[in-house]
Amino acid sequence: MSTDCYNVIIVGAGPAGIFSACFLAEQGLDRVLILDQGNDIYQRRREQGHDLLCGWGGAGAFSDGKLTFSREVGGFLSEFIPGEELDRLFEQVDRVYLENGASPQLFGTSSEAMVELETDAKLAGMQFIPARIRHMGTENCADILKQIREFLRERVKVRTSTRVEHILVENGTVKGVQLANGEKLTCRGLIVAPGRIGAQWMRSEARRLKLRSRPNPVDIGVRVEAPAAVLTRLTDVAYESKLIYYSHTFDDRVRTFCMNPFGEVVTEEVNGLITVNGHSYFHKRTENTNFAVLVSSNFTEPFNDPIGYGRYIAQLANLLGKGVIIQRLGDLIAGRRSTPKRLAKCITRPTLAGATPGDLSFVLPYRHLKDIIEMLEAMDRLTPGIFSRHTLIYGIEVKFYSNRLQLTDSLESEVENLFIIGDGAGITRGLLQASASGLVAGKAVIERLKT
Ligand SMILES: Cc1cc2nc3c(=O)[nH]c(=O)nc-3n(C[C@H](O)[C@H](O)[C@H](O)COP(=O)(O)OP(=O)(O)OC[C@H]3O[C@@H](n4cnc5c(N)ncnc54)[C@H](O)[C@@H]3O)c2cc1C
Repeated sequence: MSTDCYNVIIVGAGPAGIFSACFLAEQGLDRVLILDQGNDIYQRRREQGHDLLCGWGGAGAFSDGKLTFSREVGGFLSEFIPGEELDRLFEQVDRVYLENGASPQLFGTSSEAMVELETDAKLAGMQFIPARIRHMGTENCADILKQIREFLRERVKVRTSTRVEHILVENGTVKGVQLANGEKLTCRGLIVAPGRIGAQWMRSEARRLKLRSRPNPVDIGVRVEAPAAVLTRLTDVAYESKLIYYSHTFDDRVRTFCMNPFGEVVTEEVNGLITVNGHSYFHKRTENTNFAVLVSSNFTEPFNDPIGYGRYIAQLANLLGKGVIIQRLGDLIAGRRSTPKRLAKCITRPTLAGATPGDLSFVLPYRHLKDIIEMLEAMDRLTPGIFSRHTLIYGIEVKFYSNRLQLTDSLESEVENLFIIGDGAGITRGLLQASASGLVAGKAVIERLKT
């Protein structure tokens, strides 16, 4: 084993890991090491598969950069941290993003307009979750992360293109990590922040170390794209609207997710599967707005593998469409596939080139399709024009969440001095909460090192 013993090793340089590092650096802790399997921020390229989610900044580097100030959105930290303390952590995180170049503009601050949206959503049969939102923008996220990287340059050691294979534990206490090249590194405290891209790895390590966990539901659905004017009622006031609908037929929870005003639809490749996502720039505008409509699915017995189920559906879309399928809503309702000829007549011009015109009813189960159609009908009462035959739907969008690990309130696992945070721990799902979880673990590990 290497004689180098670090005070703290952090696995994963996404927002969760970075905010832990920032906290430890501010406290003046030395011998802190961050490891990430991907490239450093200066080498990351948005168009390249692995680079999109791995490396300095993690999935946050090319994200839309929306910070959603809500205890109810983007994770479950409110189950670990009392409400007001969590709000203070959000402010602390926000300050760091602001100091490093995030726009000072906040959406969702007009309480009158938000109350009006809430009321009108209720009349349309939906719940609207009001939240303030800061939009950093896809083109700015990487620059903000570069600034944070520079702040940490002399304060923590960073090793990129370095994959961790195993977490090393002795007698119930963490001892370090073993890298993919066999090298072993020791530490007093280990913070693991592997994100969604590391979910499978985390799952197998948790199994090996006998850490208890429970599955999170899988969210399956489509990305919807419409002319931006159709949604400005929502996006001008709230930027992104979190709407929740309980479907009439199945009583399922259906929700909008990741709304991107004047944004772009993009593909995402995770572990060999091509799915769809969306983002928006701060300055550059397209003529469309996109958002996801997702249905949460949970299972009990004899099958309890939501990730496996989601992968199966995504594989089916990839099999039929050789990637992402695009369809006009009008074609879906009429029971026919979209073809290049039919798409050419669509007044919504797709922002994603290369999706295959097809038929999503061959991919999505009746339950999911019905839920999605019902939600779009309900939304049409709030934003007339969304349930139009010219609305585009892309499939499929799937959100695999990591299993939720058994953690203490300071996010320590059942192994002493091993803290597991961010999306990879199954406790967060967005930038703000992932970053805040980094602060929680940073504080806890400092306390622990004092003892
Ligand atoms: C296209 C897109 C748009 C998004 N837009 C938004 C948005 O607008 N607002 C919002 O709140 N959220 C958004 N998100 C989600 C947000 O990016 C994530 O919630 C957040 O990045 C999670 O942070 P994290 O640190 O937990 O994990 P990640 O950011 O996923 O980082 C994990 C890191 O760990 C590394 N890693 C994993 N396993 C290992 C290993 N074994 N060894 C070494 N390194 C490892 C990975 O390479 C990765 O760099 C978006 C995500 C995507 C993909």
